[in-house]
Amino acid sequence: MPVAKANMDEFAMGSSGEYSAFGATRNPWDHSRVPGGSSSGAVAAISAGYAPFALGTDTGGSVRLPAGFCGVSALRPTYGTLSRYGVMAMASSLDQVGPVAVSAKDIAAGLSVIVGRDPQDSTSVDLPNASRLAELKASKLKGLRIGLPKEYFTEGLSPAVREVLETALGRLASEGAEVVEVSLPHTRFAIDTYYLINTSEVSSNLSRFDGVRYGARKSSEGLHGMISQTRDEGFGPEAKRRILLGAFCLSKGFYEAFYLKALKVRTLITQDFQAAFEKVDVIATPLSPSTAFPIGSKTTSPLEMYLADVFTVTMALAALPALAIPAGFSNGLPVGIQLVGPSLSDVRLLEIGAAYQELTDHHLKQPHLEF
Ligand code: GLN
Repeated sequence: MPVAKANMDEFAMGSSGEYSAFGATRNPWDHSRVPGGSSSGAVAAISAGYAPFALGTDTGGSVRLPAGFCGVSALRPTYGTLSRYGVMAMASSLDQVGPVAVSAKDIAAGLSVIVGRDPQDSTSVDLPNASRLAELKASKLKGLRIGLPKEYFTEGLSPAVREVLETALGRLASEGAEVVEVSLPHTRFAIDTYYLINTSEVSSNLSRFDGVRYGARKSSEGLHGMISQTRDEGFGPEAKRRILLGAFCLSKGFYEAFYLKALKVRTLITQDFQAAFEKVDVIATPLSPSTAFPIGSKTTSPLEMYLADVFTVTMALAALPALAIPAGFSNGLPVGIQLVGPSLSDVRLLEIGAAYQELTDHHLKQPHLEF
């Protein structure tokens, strides 16, 4: 039984936790800053020590981005390895349930209970090596080939975040891991591709909220009046923006230019990763260009908010597992690192995360809470 349900961005649309009908979630490390979204409350609760394990969803980064901002661990599992039965769909080809905990070992312990094929979710598959989850052992780091995609370490990355990541990678290298440069050349199309696919699927999935079977019905004159009033009053501004954008992308004449094109670029992004994994075992990237940003600093610019996801959407497009773990601090704010593996390598990723966490104590640091 869940002990609590936590705050989140409406319909899991958001990167900061500010698009909730209940108000913004705050970052436990600095209450004037966002915790990251969309699974903002679940991740902030783990960071604040309210619970040992939480579930969020990750469509384009919604457990990993907040884990980075709040100094905890979170996994986006390989698409399909956790049942989505009971989860409200946002963008079905991307949606994935994601566990959050202090450490990779705690994620593994929780995952061991819920992982696997579920007849109620026809997209679900079994996770290989799931028997290693319950008592996860740290992996050896000697000889591990870690790829650093050069497109993720450009001017857009804040120097403070870069410095923390370099220290973390140096620590892994000192244990015998081999750090090499790789290239994921289609990264520059990531945000456009993700938001075209996301909004298109959102507009389709959310059409069911018409006040007939789903949605809080608002009565108005006639069927059309009822549906439009229900949707007008029921959806917040971000949901409306995505429904409108997505309906446009899918409309006759624009479908090929936008949605279909995005699907093709999605394949190119997936192939980038496949080529990189011929050279390395795991890819390490930042989780976000900066540390947690101040509340209110991006809400007036949807584009700026979308750009916060620049390092987390490609793994979702390529349906790969990705683990966020704490890597250090900058000016008192947590900085996370992301480890991405080939499809179905989730257990191995957690074992590598556990090895790093045996060498470091960033994940054990707790915010000082004052109310
Ligand atoms: N921030 C991304 C978006 O708004 C990801 C959301 C998510 O993963 N649920 O779509």
